Amino acid sequence: MEHWDVVVVGAGPAGAAAALAARRTAPSTRVLLLDRADFPRDKVCGDGIAPEALDVLQGLGVDPATLTEGFAPVPRLRLRSPGGAAVERPMRRPAHVVPRQVLDARILDAALAGGAELRRHQVRRLTVHADRVEVDGALTAGVVIGADGAESVVRRGLGLAPNRPDRMAVALRGYAPELPGQRGVQVIATTEQRWPAYAWSFPLGDGRANVGYGELVSGGATRTALVEGLHRLLPGVEPDGLRAHRLPLSTQRPRQPDGRVLLAGDAASLVNPLTGEGIFYAVLSGALAGSAAATGDRAGRDHRRALHRRLGRHLRHSSTASLLSRWPRIMDAAFRAAAAEQRVFDDVVDLGLADGRLTLPTLAAAVRRLR
Ligand SMILES: Cc1cc2nc3c(=O)[nH]c(=O)nc-3n(C[C@H](O)[C@H](O)[C@H](O)COP(=O)(O)OP(=O)(O)OC[C@H]3O[C@@H](n4cnc5c(N)ncnc54)[C@H](O)[C@@H]3O)c2cc1C
Repeated sequence: MEHWDVVVVGAGPAGAAAALAARRTAPSTRVLLLDRADFPRDKVCGDGIAPEALDVLQGLGVDPATLTEGFAPVPRLRLRSPGGAAVERPMRRPAHVVPRQVLDARILDAALAGGAELRRHQVRRLTVHADRVEVDGALTAGVVIGADGAESVVRRGLGLAPNRPDRMAVALRGYAPELPGQRGVQVIATTEQRWPAYAWSFPLGDGRANVGYGELVSGGATRTALVEGLHRLLPGVEPDGLRAHRLPLSTQRPRQPDGRVLLAGDAASLVNPLTGEGIFYAVLSGALAGSAAATGDRAGRDHRRALHRRLGRHLRHSSTASLLSRWPRIMDAAFRAAAAEQRVFDDVVDLGLADGRLTLPTLAAAVRRLR
């Protein structure tokens, strides 16, 4: 049977980052990426890319300019809280909005240029042995990295349950003309109805915007309810190509087991519970998994520890913030505080889009506005 040092299941951002990191950590490593889709392929997403995601890829030797070429930076963010408090400010660093059909193919190209190979194959079954992992009875690997997204087959193969419905969001997105006056501004609007729920409009820079709406699966969301939510929050927007997808929130993450099978990105439930952002966590956890893969049968333990060191504190803080945000009044107070102080706004953005913390000054500023 054909043998590879590392097999990565899924060639999205997590998988491509894992392949890049595995080759950089040990350049002789033979890395095979398997994806059920042909690239370039679409992925249902808001297409918003946090600057920190580009930092991670830069650390893997990918020039961020090659990833965002043709898509202007988006420097400002406008937020509306459930009770209607509004704030618009510049972000500390601009975000980008690049359709995933473009972005993912560019990251994958970098992984292939780095020496990984790609095959089209839908993985169905893993068999774990002491010294190797068998994939679909067709090939073996020293380590398998499951970067196969929200419905991960690799995760299921490890016996790890999917997220509960109250820790799983579902969102629908399409493309529509920008809102009036939206050039260079990402818009996020929330509502008390069906809370926690939000809609977004992220401008691509060519007059179009990625627009969408999401809420928790436990609310019983149907496609009709999601479309209604989008229209309620972004009245007059009539998008093309509406498609839905699930988001496993980081408030219920599986424990990475010891051994030769690692999880990264959505497969590891690394989606921010406040915003639905997942690309930063996908490339970061992919990079950590790729580096850990070099240690063979210790890879699972090493990956778990590396994830904990790098993201543990942030994940605790974003879970706490998500718990607090269940009370819309607290969100209103936080948004009013962000409107009053740039520092609070920056903290809120870092917590929602990257690896920020719930800082004491921000908590205190929000509490003052509760009264
Ligand atoms: C509507 C919506 C809006 C979002 N908006 C944003 C946003 O604006 N910004 C942001 O940062 N995040 C956003 N997210 C989250 C983001 O899309 C994900 O977190 C991100 O795509 C995770 O990357 P990944 O590489 O883990 O998984 P994916 O991007 O899902 O890639 C998984 C890959 O695995 C392949 N695959 C799956 N199963 C198999 C199999 N059995 N065998 C072989 N291959 C397989 C798939 O074809 C795919 O290529 C959004 C999500 C949704 C649903």
